[in-house]
Amino acid sequence: MKWEFPEKLQYAYDALEPHIDAKTMEIHHQKHHRAYFDNAIKALGGMPSSTVEETLLSHLESAVQNNAGGFYNHALFWQMLTPRSSKAPIGALKNAIDAKWNSFAEFRDAFEKAGLTRFGSGWAWLAKNKSNGEIEIFSKGNQDHPNVDTHTPLLGVDVWEHAYYLKYQNRRADYLNAIWNVINWEFCEEQFTT
Ligand code: MN
Repeated sequence: MKWEFPEKLQYAYDALEPHIDAKTMEIHHQKHHRAYFDNAIKALGGMPSSTVEETLLSHLESAVQNNAGGFYNHALFWQMLTPRSSKAPIGALKNAIDAKWNSFAEFRDAFEKAGLTRFGSGWAWLAKNKSNGEIEIFSKGNQDHPNVDTHTPLLGVDVWEHAYYLKYQNRRADYLNAIWNVINWEFCEEQFTT
């Protein structure tokens, strides 16, 4: 991934309504995501020439991990959402999910559990293990990256309160349940197959 803040998302802030509200999207993108980007560049002493992934693996100091991780995770997150969701996995990823979890419903339960059981702030991830091609669900705390040394992220869901508090307050489960309406499975499939 390049070091470039996405000034405009591929959809309007209100496009994911009613599942994710416009105000949350605007603050999340313009305030939170931008701050991670700006603070990462500051912590690095300027714009790095390496990719974001390379930076995450070579700068282990917490200011870089927190902010470069936050930049990376959110840059993926916006692309993993869409107002025109197929509402279910497609293609090779659909087959891999069915093979591992029997059905989309069982996969969804496992993924939501990963998000629900992450104490405090963090992310739930579906990722492909680069060494054996297996898909795995796990969660990470804070803005830790989704193991980019060993895994390719396919789907990540932000479970920080800032991602859902305005609309869902403390009801993280309701947010996780609603987000399936706006997942960009085409993007996840692209991540899986390339
Ligand atoms: Mn966030």
